[in-house]
Amino acid sequence: MVALTGAGISAESGIPTFRGPGGLWRQRRPEQLATPAAFAHDPKLVWEWYDWRRCVIVKAEPNPGHKALASLEASKPGFTLVTQNVDGLHDRAGSRRILKLHGDIWMVRCTACRREKRDDRAPLPELPPLVPAVPPLPSLPELPPVAPPPRPEAPAAASPVPPDPEMPSSLLPPQATPNQIGLLSATSTTV
Ligand SMILES: [Zn+2]
Repeated sequence: MVALTGAGISAESGIPTFRGPGGLWRQRRPEQLATPAAFAHDPKLVWEWYDWRRCVIVKAEPNPGHKALASLEASKPGFTLVTQNVDGLHDRAGSRRILKLHGDIWMVRCTACRREKRDDRAPLPELPPLVPAVPPLPSLPELPPVAPPPRPEAPAAASPVPPDPEMPSSLLPPQATPNQIGLLSATSTTV
């Protein structure tokens, strides 16, 4: 069994659609803000919009509709919830098997290494939020020159291993500069 929910169920919890008049922010339309191009052009502006939405959402509570779907999941094996909502109210109501079509406004992703994590802070302390910079490794003291090996058959020092091109980018070391955190939630331009 599958249930599909959209903005309607969260409207009952007082969350605006963020597309109608009640959801407009600084006279801007969501289509101007919820795009990768808008984020690339002005990440701080887009983050201010998402931070405002997160502050609206954090004050809302799951309603009986969210809770009914959570108990349905508990009683029906194989039940899956598909939602267009990014607000996380289904999670807070107790649903666990959720397919989130437009992502989750509480998940953030590093733009450099694409690592994802949950961040429930609303408001965020700084915009755009940054990954803490990794300090550079201290330089090692210079070692005295090594004497040549006494015998030609002495094992040669292993040559450095080249990086594995198949290694997932999430395993690569983070960069030494602060990296911006992007948004995992990719809302559609139309609902
Ligand atoms: Zn990163």
